[in-house]
Parts: sequence; structure tokens; C-alpha cells
Amino acid sequence: MSVSTSNLTVSVAAILAEGATRYGDLNAITVDGRSTTYEQLWAQARQYAGALQARGIEAGDRVALLIPNVTDFARAYYAVLALGAVAVPVHALLKAREISYILEDSGAKLLICAAPLLAEGASGATASGVPVLSVLAPEEAGTIRLEDLAREAEPIGTYLPRRPEDLATILYTSGTTGKPKGALGTHLALIEQTHTTLLNTMELRRGDKLFGGLPLFHTFGQTCVLNTGLRVGAEVMLLPKFTAEGALELLLEADIDVFFGVPTMYVALLEAGKQRDGMPEKLRYAISGGASLPVSILTAFEQRFGARIHEGYGLTETSPVACFNHVGVDPRPGTVGTPVWGVDVEIADPACPDEIRLLPRGELGELVVRGHNLFSGYLNRPEATAEAVVDGWFRTGDLGTKDEDGYLRILDRTKDMILRNGYNVYPREIEEVLVSHPEISNAAVYGVPHETHGQEIAASVTLESGSTLSVQELVAWASAQMAAYKYPRLIEIVKEFPLGPSGKILKRELVAQFTAEDA
Ligand code: AMP
Repeated sequence: MSVSTSNLTVSVAAILAEGATRYGDLNAITVDGRSTTYEQLWAQARQYAGALQARGIEAGDRVALLIPNVTDFARAYYAVLALGAVAVPVHALLKAREISYILEDSGAKLLICAAPLLAEGASGATASGVPVLSVLAPEEAGTIRLEDLAREAEPIGTYLPRRPEDLATILYTSGTTGKPKGALGTHLALIEQTHTTLLNTMELRRGDKLFGGLPLFHTFGQTCVLNTGLRVGAEVMLLPKFTAEGALELLLEADIDVFFGVPTMYVALLEAGKQRDGMPEKLRYAISGGASLPVSILTAFEQRFGARIHEGYGLTETSPVACFNHVGVDPRPGTVGTPVWGVDVEIADPACPDEIRLLPRGELGELVVRGHNLFSGYLNRPEATAEAVVDGWFRTGDLGTKDEDGYLRILDRTKDMILRNGYNVYPREIEEVLVSHPEISNAAVYGVPHETHGQEIAASVTLESGSTLSVQELVAWASAQMAAYKYPRLIEIVKEFPLGPSGKILKRELVAQFTAEDA
């Protein structure tokens, strides 16, 4: 017998509404030493919601948020959701043209923009004819301030219950190629993911201080840190802009209990950690996701900061966590753990685009995901949705294996695999070798076009401070570590990598730079 879900009501806003009742005067968010309690945050969100309602925002309307990691992000986010409207968080570093694209594509009725981002935000909004409300702007800035409207408006009483399949968020993701697509996140997917990650995988506790340096406009920070943290009564210690020094300061001085990061953050933290003594007093463990974490970096972090890293895997489309090295179970470095509760992750034949043909354990193929955590499609792109979701399975575009114990390993994205002289080369494997060199702090490996080999293997690396290694020495060292068809012949030493929204290395930009320099 199947159970109808049509009478169920849910809302992501319930996380904060219930938090206000349960955790009242505990701190919900702290930024730069200023704390806001659960009760205060919910009262402020209800006031913002009252102001938005007075401006004509109703259930189903899309409201874009261009706000860095500050308390106003949470106020505006829960205000929008409490009205039953849809939050469209925008990457804080986008330029006017890119912002305008998102506003138009999502059909946003309003942009809430933080003062430091107003130059790009307002010009993007003007180009799209979308009104702007500012937050954090001084009175004389001449903008319409949400704070002022909120003071005059009647706060809403409580949140509007939604159906599980109703939209809560639209998060823009580039996926493998092309223009960013709006991934539709339902209340069910986000709520379930919060409960799932919380109850079964991360073991967060009331009163825990969570590191909040992952951007809240991205699914990882938004679901795993903000929503899950507030669900359990934790205190989210926001970092408005990630810097290694700022992160280290929080880690060492603010009694962080759980650290969340992407691999580039761990690399940066390790580098900064060499300049400063001290161990975090309370750190129970750290969580990594968003890109593969080389085992040597995981080990170095564990040695320097005295806590284990649990790696997980997911995507914007899976809200995000699909599998995880569950807290409470010894992590298996080099794997992304086992599927989280209620979510199936299997390996399918990547050569069959129109059907899902599952492969036996141990075989290499494309990871496919099924479960309550799936997005409900790409906004206005039925073809892209149909390509991505086949027979109820979401095709991730990532290559990997699942072993006899159910542990998954990610090799690479299907499109990142390098084909050199007919051999399949997986960048991740080479990156692992490169960062095992004591003077290489981080590495990105990618394929570039080559006349006779089809593709050649290229690597961009950053070096530890003070290193004098030359490219020739690096190539010679790499050739001694790896088979001839694998080692990178083309290596460049860079100061930093181009990074995506959540701090991931943008390989397509490295390829484009390389190709441009070559030409
Ligand atoms: P996003 O939608 O921005 O979260 O990006 C999702 C992509 O990040 C996935 O398709 C993977 O390619 C990558 N990713 C996430 N977690 C991991 C991980 N632990 N190891 C390797 N790749 C990962």
C-alpha cells in the first residue's frame, strides 16, 4: 500500500520557528563576536517577512538573495521561506551581467542585496527591471533598506505550511557544461536532508559551535551547516569571507566543535597553521566535501589539528549529501563513505545514456543517486532534466566504484577523464601523487588538446612557501612516480587557483588559460 503525501505539510522555515521554541536564548548565529539568539533570529525573520509581504511578495514568488555569510542571510532566507516564497541565493562574487541572467532566468520578483555587493547587484537588477532592497546599507546610502521597511511592517505570525513537493530554493549550478541551470529544491528534499544528515551521519549536538566559512548561497553551507545546525540547536560561527587566517583564528580561539570545509580550505588552513602554534581545544571532527580530498592532506590535517576528517560526497541536485563517512564509524580515507539514510547510490554504465544499467560491485562506472533528496528538475529546462534523471535515478556525471562493503570512491567527473594515446587517465589519482610531494601544497590535473596523443596531461601546482622547485624538477620527479602514460609532462607553478562558488578549483578555467597561452 502506498501512502499519499498530499496532505502532509512541511517548511524549511519550521527549522527556525521550532528552534525559537526549543532553543530560545541559545545563540543561533555569531559573526565577528556579535551573537543572535534563536528567538531573536526568528523574530527578525518574521519582521523581514512582514516587510516583504507588504511589498507584495506571496507564496511561490522568487526572491533572490545576494548576501555574504552574515546574519542577514539567515534573516532574509527564512523570511522568504516563511512566506512560502522561493529563495534564490546568488553567488556573492558574480558580476552584474551574471546576476542579471539569474534574476531573469529564475523570474525573481525582488533582489535583497547586501550593501557591499550593491554595485554589481543593483546594476544587474536594473538591467533586468527587478527592484532591490538593501541590507547592511547606511541610512545615507539612498537605497530602500529592508531594515527600515521591517521596522514599519507588521511581522508575520508564523510560517506558511507547504506541500512536500513545493519549491523552497533555486540554486544555480553549472553542472558539467554550459550556462548555470537553476536546480529546483523542494521543501521535502531540504527538510529530509537536514534530518538525515543530522540524525544519521553527522552527530551534531545542541550547543555545538559550527565553523561557518562555507558560503551559504551554496548547497553545502546552506543545508549542512545552516539548516542542519539550526535544526539541532547549534551555534553557527559565520565567517563573512573565507581567509585562512580568519578560519584559523576561529578554529583556535572560538572553541569550534565541528569544522566544515572543501579541500582547498583544508590546504589553506594547513599552510596558515604552520605560522602559528596552538591546537583547537574542542574540535571533535571535521567534514569535507565538494571535491576530492587527497589522503595526504587529510592525514596532515589530522596530525596538525588533532581531529579526524569525515569525507562525504554530493551535489546541488542531491541537496547535497548522497554518501558520507558517517560520524561514529571509523572513516575510510580515500572513500566518500556509504549512502546516507534513505538514499541509494549505485554505479551505472556510462555508455547507456537512455537507460540505467547498474553494474556489479567493484566495477567502474557513473554514480547514480535515487531518494528523497533529489531536486525536482532544472528550471525551464525539460531536456536537461530528462537527460539527468533517468528512470528515477539522477546521473551525477561522476565516475567511481562501490566496493563489497558499500563504500564509494570517486575517480573523477566523466568529462574530466583524460584520454591520452587511447589510455584512460584519471586526474584524481595523479593529484594524489603530486600532493604527496612535501613541497607541493595543492595540485589540479587536467587534459589539454594534443595533436598526436589526442590529449596531453597537464598539472597546475601551488608550492609550499619557500620552495624553490623548478618545473623541470617537478616533471622529473613525477615521471619517477608514475607510469609513462600517466605522469604530467606539462606542469605550471601557480600562486593560486581559480576557485568556484564553494571554493572548488575550476579546472575548465585552467584548461582555457592553458589553451590560450599555447595559442
Ligand atoms: P556542486 O553541485 O557544486 O556541489 O558540485 C557537485 C560536484 O562536486 C560533484 O558532481 C562532484 O564532481 C564534486 N564532488 C563533491 N563531493 C566530492 C567528493 N567528496 N569527492 C570528489 N568529488 C566531489
